Amino acid sequence: MPNLSDRVGTFTDSVIRRMTRICNKYNAINLSQGFPDWEPPKEMLDALAKAAHAGPHQYAITFGAKNLRDAICEKQSKAIGRTLDPEKEIVVTCGSTEAMMASMMTVCNPGDKVLVFSPFYENYGADAILSGAQPIYVPLVPPEYNFDISIIENGFKSGAKAIVICNPSNPCGKVFTEKELTEIGNLAVKYNAYIITDEVYEHILFDDNKHVYASGLPGLFDNVITCNSLSKTYSITGWRLGYVIGPEKVIDAARKVHDFLTVGAASPLQEAAVTGLKFGKEYYDELKEKYTSKRNRMLEGFDKIGLKHNVPAGTYFVMVDIQEFLDLPQFKNFTDLEFCEWLVKNVGVAAVPGSSFFRENINNLIRFHFARSDETIDEAVRRLGKLKELVK
Ligand code: GLN
Repeated sequence: MPNLSDRVGTFTDSVIRRMTRICNKYNAINLSQGFPDWEPPKEMLDALAKAAHAGPHQYAITFGAKNLRDAICEKQSKAIGRTLDPEKEIVVTCGSTEAMMASMMTVCNPGDKVLVFSPFYENYGADAILSGAQPIYVPLVPPEYNFDISIIENGFKSGAKAIVICNPSNPCGKVFTEKELTEIGNLAVKYNAYIITDEVYEHILFDDNKHVYASGLPGLFDNVITCNSLSKTYSITGWRLGYVIGPEKVIDAARKVHDFLTVGAASPLQEAAVTGLKFGKEYYDELKEKYTSKRNRMLEGFDKIGLKHNVPAGTYFVMVDIQEFLDLPQFKNFTDLEFCEWLVKNVGVAAVPGSSFFRENINNLIRFHFARSDETIDEAVRRLGKLKELVK
């Protein structure tokens, strides 16, 4: 057979989504791929039903239906503290996955360096490869997931074109502070580089943590390319609606990339999503409360059964330390992936091995998500509680 491209040989399929397939095969509880198991808001479903009959059913404007761009810009202008121009500063994409890919392709020439925090959401590695960029990893060091700003400065000094920041951060739950973002921002301006953010968990924050929009920090708008999505905020991961916000010059180019990648996001879904974007503050307060209660439920459960974990400041993920199991004879030489496969088959709970997020040789952390009903969280904790007995 004729050869395939070299590039497809340089990355694997998504381990997150592979774990979902394994999970389904064993009928286990899926705490691997993060998506909610509840319905989207009823108002949005009603709007979708209406759109099913009244349309639109043909292509929307390639860079996003006007009413959706208007609604996103209205909501995000308030959040960011700057009036966004829906005609020039936004492109609607097929999820934040396309938003990130389109942003990388817009910014990077083959061979350009891009700074990526490690652990990182696994798409960024493949995005970098597909856009020809070369990732330089900046460790976020567990358990606090702090970073050394001098590594970032050295990266920019060596010519890095951009830095990717997932904030709040998947998988480690870190929420970047204003001070951290300002420091990174100052360096991006000094070295004439872009900050590409992934802010899909902007509304899933705990305790007193606040989401700081990098694009809203003084003097940074021209250097920041914001990728975002409606998936997590409105529990519509299957609708595949995302967007990029940025300065006109960037968006102008990103719209071209997007146009040839996908033409556009599904038009009836764009229409229905407008309803969600008009929700008031109570909706976002309730979302935060809901996830706070689920986080606490899972962490209390883990504490009861003696699993060691971090305390996420944002996102719906928690990292669990499995070192005590890996130290046992029956798991000798197990990788974290093998441990997760064992867990699905023998305990009936799916997690994602940390090695699919860490660049460093870290094998003892696995990621669970808690976007699940309380009953499912309780059942997962009950099953995991048997783990220690099973391996005795
Ligand atoms: N962002 C979610 C996760 O990290 C879902 C990933 C995906 O499959 N798109 O689990």
